[in-house]
Amino acid sequence: MPTMTDNSLQALLPEEEIPTQWYNIAADLPDIPPHLHPGTKEPITAEDLAPLFPAALIEQELTKERWIDIPDPVRDIYKLWRPAPFHRAKRFEEALGTNARIYYKYEGGSPIGSHKTNSAVAQAYFNMIDGRMKVTTETGAGQWGAALAFATQIWDMSCEIWQVRSSYEGKPYRHAQMEAFGATCHSSPSDLTDAGRALREKYPDTTGSLGMAIAEAVEAAAKDPAASYSLGSVLNHVVIHQSIIGQEMLKQLAMFDEPQIDYLFGCAGGGSNLAGLAFPVLRENLEGRMNAKIVACEPKAAPSMTEGVYDYDFGDSVGLTPLLKMYTLGHEFIPDPVHAGGLRFHGMAPSVSYAKHEGLLDAIAVGQVEAFEAGVTFARAEGIIPASESNHAIAGAVRQAKAAAAAGEDPVIVIGVSGSGQLDLPAYTEFLEGKMADS
Ligand SMILES: *Cc1c(COP(=O)(O)O)cnc(C)c1O
Repeated sequence: MPTMTDNSLQALLPEEEIPTQWYNIAADLPDIPPHLHPGTKEPITAEDLAPLFPAALIEQELTKERWIDIPDPVRDIYKLWRPAPFHRAKRFEEALGTNARIYYKYEGGSPIGSHKTNSAVAQAYFNMIDGRMKVTTETGAGQWGAALAFATQIWDMSCEIWQVRSSYEGKPYRHAQMEAFGATCHSSPSDLTDAGRALREKYPDTTGSLGMAIAEAVEAAAKDPAASYSLGSVLNHVVIHQSIIGQEMLKQLAMFDEPQIDYLFGCAGGGSNLAGLAFPVLRENLEGRMNAKIVACEPKAAPSMTEGVYDYDFGDSVGLTPLLKMYTLGHEFIPDPVHAGGLRFHGMAPSVSYAKHEGLLDAIAVGQVEAFEAGVTFARAEGIIPASESNHAIAGAVRQAKAAAAAGEDPVIVIGVSGSGQLDLPAYTEFLEGKMADS
């Protein structure tokens, strides 16, 4: 490993250090409750999932194997943007007047500017090797749709996307991005599916929600034998793919000669980027090598873990998906249209929910004005304008750094900066002009 000095700001990992295996937390937390069949209420089986997903992804969804090999063609695509940067945020520390040592893992350098490509490439690949050359999906803010659009065209597949209405209208550059990568994108609820037509009748003025868009994409895949459905967060296989974030980060932290993390902050919508960064650290905690406090930062507009109940619920709005044991606000909950569209989900990954329930991680809710205040401070110090979603994690770290300054402590804080805010600039303008609603 290259040597670093006290003044180093970046831990540059060589390409060979891109992980060769994904980590699966189910090996270390074997009692995460299984998904249930929505009809029989029995644990879901591989046969139940076969109409929706290719075999390898179903196996990953159900397995308790600790390590899963990353196929070479997937790892070769990862090389387009990985290893992802890991920085010491010295100028940000100075801006906050804290003795905390703050580090951040940045996933915004991917082809679409978010961690979503880490799973999109894997999902497209496993569909392709099963001969499923079409995938359908939903997208909230647009990042997942764009990631899957990028990934599917690598293997000449087709991709049809339902984008939540509020972001379809508010984020036109995201569908341009999806179309540039060759995908088709509809505003959801649409009149193309039974679920969409029913939702439009029930809620004519709806801003849409991830739950609604999921219902449309699931229905479209279920009705087309040549198509698979693909989900950008929440499910175990997605969380598994994102584990490369935390695996890289632990190597990079060691390059800075830091044996411990005191606090780790990640934003949580469906939980995949938080879990990707935090589960390899949670493993260190469980093995007694670390004692990091992991904090999920959710938006006040969709506070599933801080205000929801821990129970079985559907992932979509109309009850088509398996039942997932998770913190949920109820599958009919429609969050306010906050800027962090990627965090507008009523539930939370079952693995993250279980870890929270067992006291292995904490959750806080952050309002969007506080999030953007933190994001602007971070941008001015570090030169990166973070995604609206990522600002929630940065705000969590700011709270901690200020508490540390008041208590005269100097903890090590790691922040997951899940994406770039280049396509969120209208939200920054609204914040800077003092027009942002504090929901
Ligand atoms: C999608 C997205 C999120 C929220 O999804 P998780 O599954 O909770 O990670 C957060 N940040 C960015 C940049 C995203 O694209």
